[in-house]
Amino acid sequence: MNGVTLHKHDLPAGLSFGPLVAIDTETMGLNPCRDRLCLVQLSAGDGTAHLVQLIPEALGGQGTNCPNLKTLLANPEVTKLFHYGRFDIAALYNTLGVLAAPVICTKIASKLVRTYTDRHGLKDLCKDLAGVDISKQQQTSDWGAPGLSPEQIAYAASDVLYLHKIWDRLRELLIRENRLGIATAAFSFLPVRAQLDLLGYADPDLFAH
Ligand code: MN
Repeated sequence: MNGVTLHKHDLPAGLSFGPLVAIDTETMGLNPCRDRLCLVQLSAGDGTAHLVQLIPEALGGQGTNCPNLKTLLANPEVTKLFHYGRFDIAALYNTLGVLAAPVICTKIASKLVRTYTDRHGLKDLCKDLAGVDISKQQQTSDWGAPGLSPEQIAYAASDVLYLHKIWDRLRELLIRENRLGIATAAFSFLPVRAQLDLLGYADPDLFAH
């Protein structure tokens, strides 16, 4: 796989992603309290991706002993770029005990400026803002498998490879529509939102009547 590196257990020491790192996760399901975190994908926006496979100790892995990944997530000098970060931040915090910050979320940015559409999925943003067709075919595959297939690895990488380009475009639109300020405020609230979700305040929502 061109430019995609799979690491078991942790990132290698000394690997830098620059000031803005795109991050996505694959889990055993959509409930961050319930479902095991299996894979963390990262990209510096340079067309390459690093995948970290987290393997439970019971299955011969190192569990959540991934100091290099944790250091990166917690580094206040490195902004973490997600698509629907609400879920990834919760999953990472629930599993690794590290609250990712500061963060940017392309889904929130898209909802704030692309008000002419209700299509804010990553596949839609890749197509409309980066001119790339990504496949979502592997989305529902078994990410807990000890050996990931080439298709899973390529899919997982594609979820972080285009986020920088998408964010560049969304940032231009946020500035044009005078919504960069409210977007920035919403991003800074995301780690709190993720913690509220883990506490059970997603449904009914804490902010609902
Ligand atoms: Mn993904």
